[in-house]
Amino acid sequence: SFSALVVTETAPKTFSRAIVKRSINDLPPGELLIQVHYSSLNFKDALSACGKPGVTKNYPHTPGIDAAGEVVSCSDGRFKAGDPVIVTGFDLGMNTAGGYGQFIRVPSAWAVPLPQGLSLRESMIIGTAGFTAGLSVYKLQNNGVQPGDGDVLVTGATGGVGSIAVAVLARAGYRVVAVTGKAAEHPYLKELGAAEVIDRQTMLAGSERPMMKERWAGVVDVVGGDMLSAALKSTRYGGTVTCCGLVGSPDLPVNVFPFILRGVSLLGIDSVQCPMEPRLAVWKRLAGPWKPQRLETTVHEVTLAGLEEPINDILAGKLRGRTLVNLQG
Ligand code: NAP
Repeated sequence: SFSALVVTETAPKTFSRAIVKRSINDLPPGELLIQVHYSSLNFKDALSACGKPGVTKNYPHTPGIDAAGEVVSCSDGRFKAGDPVIVTGFDLGMNTAGGYGQFIRVPSAWAVPLPQGLSLRESMIIGTAGFTAGLSVYKLQNNGVQPGDGDVLVTGATGGVGSIAVAVLARAGYRVVAVTGKAAEHPYLKELGAAEVIDRQTMLAGSERPMMKERWAGVVDVVGGDMLSAALKSTRYGGTVTCCGLVGSPDLPVNVFPFILRGVSLLGIDSVQCPMEPRLAVWKRLAGPWKPQRLETTVHEVTLAGLEEPINDILAGKLRGRTLVNLQG
């Protein structure tokens, strides 16, 4: 048997969490059995862990959309016992028992071999949040945003996606401007690689106007709502904006002017169903030329028992950087 965090609906719309013993036989079917060494905390994990709608339909459930560990067995030969692998996205931790258990069983098509240059621990400091940041930068580059073109804006910069986006963009040679609601965290963002830090109010000033002054060659947005609208209205001619999140709002109050007057592109980012080819390409870069140099400065490590506080903090938008979950600790 092994330990797992299990969320149970004890009464309608009332959820409780406990660390319980489970057996391998409780796991869903799949070709690949993995002993999980590390997982991480993402915004979605907190939603699943609290029974908030939109992520997990059926409880009892073990959250954890990220897992990294060693292959125990693989029935279709794609991996061999002992191989280090990463699983992020697909249905892991949504309605498939996830990385907050010491073992997972999944389809082998969900797993990525751990790329050279990353440890299992580092891969989970990056996790879905960092992969999403990497995918955003990958798409900006493929749409023609090059270092030297001008400033690249990162919103929600102290969060999981934002922190890694700042670090990755800086490593890839871009001049990064970070926008944050946390006045005390400007030095942290500079340490991660931001050339300039602005606060939310400065970013939103004048955003009720149809268009704003041209500033950004590219944008990585995790906030949505007014923030994404302001980012679109202040993106330079021909620039590209990526959209991956909704911590501010799922609505997008915008007009067509950025698109039809400045040729701005808005690109959607999905880390969950992301096909294998770009998935492998992004992980390879994150392990090599884009590997954040100060990964350890972004991390707060906990065991399953230590997840309560970070779960509440991430939902309140108070968390800084990445929370790593050690399943063997
Ligand atoms: P996170 O760690 O909580 O970071 C979000 C950050 O956004 C916060 O730290 C805060 O940073 C800022 N923020 C919070 N509330 C805000 C508000 N009301 N208005 C403006 N800014 C606010 O979460 P995360 O794990 O980075 O995820 C960020 C978003 O991306 C979530 O919506 C998540 O669901 C989404 N996501 C999507 C994908 C995908 O595949 N599309 C993958 C991963 C995550 P500051 O205080 O620095 O401003």
